Amino acid sequence: MNIKENLTLVKNSFINPDCQLIAVSKTKPVEDLFEAYNCGIRDFGENKVQEMVDKHAQLPSDIQWHMIGHLQRNKVKYIVPFVHLIHGVDTWKLLIEINKEASKIDRKVPCLLQVHIATEETKFGFSLEEIREVIFKSEIQKLTHVKIQGLMGMASYTENINQIRSEFTLIKGLFDELKAQNLPENIQLDTLSIGMSGDYLIAQEVGSTMVRIGSAIFGTRNYAHEQ
Ligand SMILES: *Cc1c(COP(=O)(O)O)cnc(C)c1O
Repeated sequence: MNIKENLTLVKNSFINPDCQLIAVSKTKPVEDLFEAYNCGIRDFGENKVQEMVDKHAQLPSDIQWHMIGHLQRNKVKYIVPFVHLIHGVDTWKLLIEINKEASKIDRKVPCLLQVHIATEETKFGFSLEEIREVIFKSEIQKLTHVKIQGLMGMASYTENINQIRSEFTLIKGLFDELKAQNLPENIQLDTLSIGMSGDYLIAQEVGSTMVRIGSAIFGTRNYAHEQ
């Protein structure tokens, strides 16, 4: 498994060269992250708090850490000091907690709201209607220590390309709809985080601005370690 070659292949395949690449390094050893770092990668995605905290301590400080997994409220405090973007904000209570911890250290933490677009119930996220409710809640303006930068979604785990495309189209439609609205100051929708190793080209076709790619860069993971 050659990380450098994989990175070149992935980047050269992009339909949209401006789409931002997040290298998803969950379960991988720090040596692998160093290798990607030495190829110029500065954005890494992790899905477990402890693992991200450990890797953050061992790797260069100019890395931008993305929390892409389901985040428990009691663990928010461990990542708020350094996290670059929290992709998986899936409840109002979690947003409140991030704001609370961020205000303690006077940081403004960038967040994405996760939208449930897949058919699988195991995946997390707000429904489209819940996203609209959250965005237009008047209390949201009081959350001065979070910055809502966009939406994140995961398509169903399926070979059916049409289904994946229609799920991505759903979140893209919501993204465009919300962007067209007059939103409070702490909501600036510029990021649409959709697309993984198996579906990032479809996501880019639909309008992804950020893709989260793991196995196509670092190789397959040991699933015994996954959530
Ligand atoms: C693991 C993971 C990815 C990357 O998955 P690959 O298929 O390995 O590219 C992307 N997003 C989320 C939320 C993940 O948990």
